[in-house]
Order: sequence, then C-alpha cells, then structure tokens
Amino acid sequence: MAPMADPVRVAIIGSGPAGLYAAEALVKQAGDEVQVDVFDRLPTPYGLVRYGVAPDHTSIKSIARYLQRVLEHPAVRFFGGVELGRDLTRADLLSCYDAVIYSTGAMVDRRLGVPGEDLPGSIAATDFVNWYCGHPDAADHRFDLTTEEIAVIGVGNVAVDVVRILAKTVDELRETDVPEQVLEALSHSRVRRVHMIGRRGPAQAKFTTKEARELGELPAAGIHVRPEHMDLDPASAELAETDRHVRGNIKVLNGWTGEPAGDRPRRIDVHFWRAPVEILGTDRVEGLRLERTRPDETGRVTGTGEYETLPVGLVLRSVGYKSVPLDGVPFDERTHVVPNEGGRISGPGGVPVPREYVAGWIKRGPTGVVGTNKSDAAETVRNLLEDFDPGGPRPERTVEELLKARGLPVVTYADWLNLDAAEIALARALDRGERVKLARWDAMRSAYHPFH
Ligand code: NAP
Repeated sequence: MAPMADPVRVAIIGSGPAGLYAAEALVKQAGDEVQVDVFDRLPTPYGLVRYGVAPDHTSIKSIARYLQRVLEHPAVRFFGGVELGRDLTRADLLSCYDAVIYSTGAMVDRRLGVPGEDLPGSIAATDFVNWYCGHPDAADHRFDLTTEEIAVIGVGNVAVDVVRILAKTVDELRETDVPEQVLEALSHSRVRRVHMIGRRGPAQAKFTTKEARELGELPAAGIHVRPEHMDLDPASAELAETDRHVRGNIKVLNGWTGEPAGDRPRRIDVHFWRAPVEILGTDRVEGLRLERTRPDETGRVTGTGEYETLPVGLVLRSVGYKSVPLDGVPFDERTHVVPNEGGRISGPGGVPVPREYVAGWIKRGPTGVVGTNKSDAAETVRNLLEDFDPGGPRPERTVEELLKARGLPVVTYADWLNLDAAEIALARALDRGERVKLARWDAMRSAYHPFH
C-alpha cells in the first residue's frame, strides 16, 4: 500500500519507556502511515531508564540501547526541553496532532502522613534516587551522610535500590554512571547501619526475589532480620506455600535470620510488622518511632500499642510514587492516575475523550517492571489507531510553526547525541566505566550545544 499523503500525526508526552514503547508500537502497527513526535521536558530521553533504574543495574539500563533504535526510526522525532504546561498547552497539542499520548509517569513521592515528615533529614526516596541518578533537578541536593544510622521506609524495589546504594562502598560504585559529585559525597559517607522497614509481614514484601537476593550478596555489608520478624499469620503461611514470589522472598529472608558473619563495615537490618508513626527530632531527624503491628482480617495491619525507636539521623521514605495531574486532562485524585479504558482517556461519566490517550504509570499506577510498559503501550496504540478517522478533521498547523513562532529552543536528538558522547568521553577521561553522567544544567547545556 502506498504511504498516506498525510500520515497520522501523534504526539507523545514523555520519552521514558512507556512513551518510547508507544512510539515503537505506532511505527510497528501503522508503518509509513504515522509521524510520531516525542516530547520531553528534559533535554535527555529515556525517562526512568536514565533517571530511575539504579546505576549498578547495568543490564536494565541497557534497555536504553533498545529504546534508542525507536528514537532513530525515520518516522520518530525527539523534542527535548519542551514542557507541557510551560511551553505547550494541551490545546496546542490538539491543534497540531491527530492524537496525543500522555506518558509522563509518576513524578512525585507518596506522603507518609506522620508527624515529623517535613523535618530536615526526612527525605523522599525520589529525591535521593534522582540525585544518585544525576537528574538535573537534584544535582545540588545534599544529604547528610555523616549520620551512622539511616532508616529506609518501605520494602519495595525502590527501597532495595536505595539501601543497596547506601550499603555499597564507593569502590563498588566507581564503574557506574553516577555523577562525580555523587561519588565524592558517597566517599565521605559514615553510614554503618541501614534499616529497611516493612509495615506488614515478610509475605507482603513488594520487592522481587532477585533484587532481595542481591542485598544479601553485598561484599561490604552483612544483612540481618530478627527471627521474630519472620512470623507468618495463617494467610501468609499459605501464601508462602502457594505463591512463587512469596515463597522465593521468604526463602531469601530466612537465610538472613542468623547474625551476619564476618567483620564487614556496614550492616543492613530488615524489619517487618513495624509501622512508622513519627519521625522524631526538633531541628532535624533524630530518630524514627515505630509501632508494632499485627495483621487484621482485611489483609492490612493494626497497631498493637507497643513502640520502639530507631536512633537514625536520616529517614528515606520509599513508599511509592504518584502521578501528577496534567492541566485540562481528567485525573482521579484518589488513585492518582488518569481514568482510562485501555489507554483511552475517560471523561465525565466514563465517556471517552476523543484523541487523547495515556500509557505507562500515569495510565495504570506505579507498578511493574520496565518491560511491562511494552504491552501496556501496545494496547493504547491499538485503540488509538482503531479510533483514528482519516476522513475527519486534520491538524490545522505543525508544531514546528508553533515552536518557531514562540521562539522556543528545542533540544534535538542530534543535540542529545552530543551530550551522550560527552558523558562517554568523561567516563573514559576519568577511567570510570561506560558513562559518567553530567547532572548540572550548565554542564548539560554546554555538552548538548557545544558551539553556543
Ligand atoms: P512499591 O513496590 O509499591 O513499594 C512501596 C512500599 O512502601 C511497600 O512496601 C508499601 O507497603 C510501603 N508503604 C506504602 N505506604 C506506606 C506507609 N504509609 N508506611 C509504611 N510503608 C508504606 O513501590 P516502589 O518500591 O516505589 O516501586 C515502584 C515500582 O517500580 C514497582 O513496580 C517496582 O517493582 C518497580 N521497580 C523495579 C525495580 C527492579 O526491577 N529492579 C527497581 C525499582 C522499582 P504496603 O505493601 O504495606 O503498602
């Protein structure tokens, strides 16, 4: 079939895995009949693969190489440094495109809702992760790593990442892409003990077994869980028999109930049945008060009225992410996602909003691994292409006209490749692995526009 004179034009907002898997699905499902423009507020593509996946998880990070091929497809263009809401409105997008896919992820942390949460030293895991991943918004964050004891609240994979980065020595991280200033700050860390805290039991831990196992294999850190924290209520005991994920986790955790052997500089303590009730301190964090919990009949927990305090100087809250509403786009304030059916945005009364779609975490919430976004995005794209009516009204103008008229500078894919090359060259110059991230805006700018 000859290509359509004017291919269906789709804007994707967010160049993380969900957005780029959606771009891939569009070119796969519509061939030459589509033109895909991927926008990102950052000058860099890959979203959470670049700024969320832990620097020492190099095989997951290599997904960027796969996503790069999507960006290099002739029907796909990258518009970096363009922010929805600031540079372009939803109405602008709808005037330039046949359809829009929002894949902006889940950018902010969920709140804990306990007293002391805003004390200095109480930190959202998102901030810490952004910092060690070299996110420009977090480049100048400072964390007081002079404290010897730290608590990480939550037992999901993000908590495991954060605990692992804190427990590793700087030599173990040298080959990773963490920015130089992060490596420097970590080299002064006096952290000796990291507590990871689950409000429910070991059978309800959200981390995956592979990630948990890695924590137990760190050369510089012993790991321990007190045997009484491994208590299983009848429902959990059944899960430990029948559910592969739970069985795997319990097996790994049971291996940590003895005192850690050897004389290692750091130690990780995993706690279960402990809910954070207050972050203590006057001018800064001085402790974390926990209440013992027991399971209730709904699968949640209730407090037992018994308390204990951990003498920690830093609390990292790793209790999940949430999406932020986009101006003019329906949003469910309770579930923190855009209401949708298979990626088709639902308006009032559940009526589909024409031409607007979602993919990724803003569609289904912050769950699943990077690869989960592939089938998720393919579903959205199937529905988008099914809805498209080539005989209907077509876009009035192009986004280039609009960006030019507003004098908005765009970071192009070629510009990004300059930054990419600069990071690779920096790693070589420092004799540090494959890449060293540039995190500061000025350094990024002079790398992607070297001649300006
Ligand atoms: P998550 O898996 O939902 O874990 C959040 C944790 O916070 C849970 O243990 C949860 O406990 C706890 N929590 C929530 N509210 C709490 C409260 N008020 N007090 C105490 N604890 C509370 O979220 P995540 O760790 O942010 O991960 C997000 C997604 O990214 C997940 O799908 C994860 O697997 C994925 N991810 C994957 C990798 C990897 O594959 N290596 C790495 C990082 C992230 P309850 O269960 O009791 O609510």
